[in-house]
Amino acid sequence: MKLLRFNNGRIGLVIDDTVRDVTTAAGVDPEFWPPVGVVRLIEQFAHRRDDLLAAALAAEPLAIDSVVIDNPVPWPNKLIAIPVNYHAHALEMSSPAISKNGGFFVKSASSLSGAGQPVLLPDLPGRAVHHEAELAVVIGRRGRHIPREQALDYVFGYGCLLDMTVRGKQERAIRKSYDTFTPLGPWITTADEVPDPSALRVQLWVNGEPRQDAWTRDMIVDVPEIIAMCSSVMTLEPGDVIATGTAEGVGPVVPGDEITIDITPGVGRMTVAVAQGEGGWNVAIPRTLPNI
Ligand code: MN
Repeated sequence: MKLLRFNNGRIGLVIDDTVRDVTTAAGVDPEFWPPVGVVRLIEQFAHRRDDLLAAALAAEPLAIDSVVIDNPVPWPNKLIAIPVNYHAHALEMSSPAISKNGGFFVKSASSLSGAGQPVLLPDLPGRAVHHEAELAVVIGRRGRHIPREQALDYVFGYGCLLDMTVRGKQERAIRKSYDTFTPLGPWITTADEVPDPSALRVQLWVNGEPRQDAWTRDMIVDVPEIIAMCSSVMTLEPGDVIATGTAEGVGPVVPGDEITIDITPGVGRMTVAVAQGEGGWNVAIPRTLPNI
């Protein structure tokens, strides 16, 4: 199933390129704050699956380009990210096999956005903002100390993810946590439709020009190992999103660009616009940081 969020928080299933509104069957109130309905739906998904499908088949088909697509998983407990996770990208960033040694980092979950929202570049003269095309894993069950042999049982689904990044020497968290710096979507494809996350092709274009093209079999740390690693430190919760790291070919974007990410087979294809935003933090980094 392809789980979509659209038109300010309505819930849909995508069937044959149409959207079916299943908000009521999903038990989600689009007006409710905080917007944790999808996180709860993911936790309850096994019980609601049949009702969702029945509601979808009874619903009026909406053309997918007639809706505004929102971030499919708002307010996850965690947005986790894996640094440099493909050998060729490690070489291009001069940081060999960092993910084997470096573990993971976290981005602000508030950086998540949907296919219908542009990436807003902060106003940081002289700083480049890069695209990073990544496979997103959405966790479906709570777990701690998950062995890699069981790890895929904890996956709810997969999506396309852009880990937008201001290049530079500040902490990763500030460079990667701007609002709209983690487009996710366009929907979440449930794990039953993606039997092998190590057999996916991840491609990215800017204005139609190919920039990234990789296979997930070339990850340094694969999806089961990522889940084992993260859950060895913290409890993974339903709805947690993991950005699994990017391959080579990262590069800058500027206002007016259009980024397309495609993960095949079965995950999806998402296009987002890039626009000029405002503000941002651009202080010089002191050559010698104080001891704190
Ligand atoms: Mn990344």
